[in-house]
Amino acid sequence: MEQQLPIVLDERVSQIVTAGDGSRTIACERTSLAGSVSQRACVFCGSRVVLYPIADALHLVHGPIGCATYTWDIRGALSSGPQLHRSSFCTDLRERDIIHGGEAKLTRALDQLIDRFAPRAAFVYSTCVAGVIGDDIEAVCKKMSLLKGIPVIPVGSEGFRGTKKDGYRAACDALLRIIGTDGAAAKIPLSINIIGDFNVAGETWLVRRYFAEMGITVVATLTGDGRIDDIRRANTAALNIVQCSGSMTPLAKAMQERYGIPFKRISFFGIDDTADALYAVADHFADPAIVERTKVLVRTGAKTALAALAPMAQALRGMHAGLYVGGAFKAISLVKALRRLGITTALAGTQTGNKDDYERLRSVCDPDTMIVDDSNPAELSRWILERDIDLFIGGVKERPMAYKLGVAFCDHNHERKIGLAGFEGMVNFGREVYSSLCSPVWRLVRNNRHRGRGVA
Ligand code: SF4
Repeated sequence: MEQQLPIVLDERVSQIVTAGDGSRTIACERTSLAGSVSQRACVFCGSRVVLYPIADALHLVHGPIGCATYTWDIRGALSSGPQLHRSSFCTDLRERDIIHGGEAKLTRALDQLIDRFAPRAAFVYSTCVAGVIGDDIEAVCKKMSLLKGIPVIPVGSEGFRGTKKDGYRAACDALLRIIGTDGAAAKIPLSINIIGDFNVAGETWLVRRYFAEMGITVVATLTGDGRIDDIRRANTAALNIVQCSGSMTPLAKAMQERYGIPFKRISFFGIDDTADALYAVADHFADPAIVERTKVLVRTGAKTALAALAPMAQALRGMHAGLYVGGAFKAISLVKALRRLGITTALAGTQTGNKDDYERLRSVCDPDTMIVDDSNPAELSRWILERDIDLFIGGVKERPMAYKLGVAFCDHNHERKIGLAGFEGMVNFGREVYSSLCSPVWRLVRNNRHRGRGVA
């Protein structure tokens, strides 16, 4: 007899709503329920993924080797130059260090690594073990910074400290310790910082190209293809644009307060949101020449993308998607992008959405779309089957779940190798979705509803 999957835990019911049910708001921004086996990562992982793409910095994990292995080369984060970020250095704390303390080991590691690799800065990540034994990482970093003449920044990311979102905040705090240390203060006219794009598959480069065409200067990218010297003078930008709002809005808010830089939350996923993002920046500067160049850029990009997507949308019409991603802004963009492909979103979930994010998500979804905060494999597996989902969109933790259930999958997270941002990225996204949904493999999968739709 087929085993029934467990139902939703009582304490989680308030974190699940239907988009059209106006009688209920979603409960969110909570710590994960014990026993729920959340899809979220730990605080340390949250910090690591945000800071990881800074390519000319040393990233040192102060903890057991397992923490470093867990986040080793965790996302594409392509660099146009140095590759130092891709090494996962670790102090490898063991029983002896736990008894006697790990500060001496941390000092030795920083001493050797800074001499050997000459980084522009070093980030020292605290982990659960370092937090429990109470090493004074701040003091060690301060001492090594004076000794070596580079910023050595402690990242308060003990895994048990809260949710992955607390890790994002710790990463933002670490960046704030670097921003403004260049000495420059005057604002650069018509300039921006790109915040919350991690250049997983070259997206930062694509977006930079758009802004170059529009005539806008990019001062720093935080953190995709990031460089410490650029981050130091990020306070000189006239505007911040925030792509991954879930992780880096706190940084944008702090920069507004400290340096008077306004910010806009934008998204470069999908034709509609890419156009809105570019227009938002052009309108902010209100320079007629920039506005005109932006119109040309959007018109050309959207026209080419729509022409390429048309045959795919015809083949995909009527299919159902489920998505579970980190931030709600990405979820909102994906619902719109899927609609362009003729696909309905039956399930949309995020790890870190807040109340405002979920209200916006509800407003773009169909009335019967299920919306979920901080889900787990048991729930997602059950809903994939119950809601007749043909395609699941998520990251590394959702991929095996989808394949085991005989459902097509599209990676929209750390591990993908294909750029999904901008007009070009929307075409790549369409191809990914089409190839997965129309793969001949589904002809061999028992009970797959679309096994007849294989690629000719
Ligand atoms: S910091 Fe803690 S929760 Fe995170 S990987 Fe290390 S041991 Fe695990």
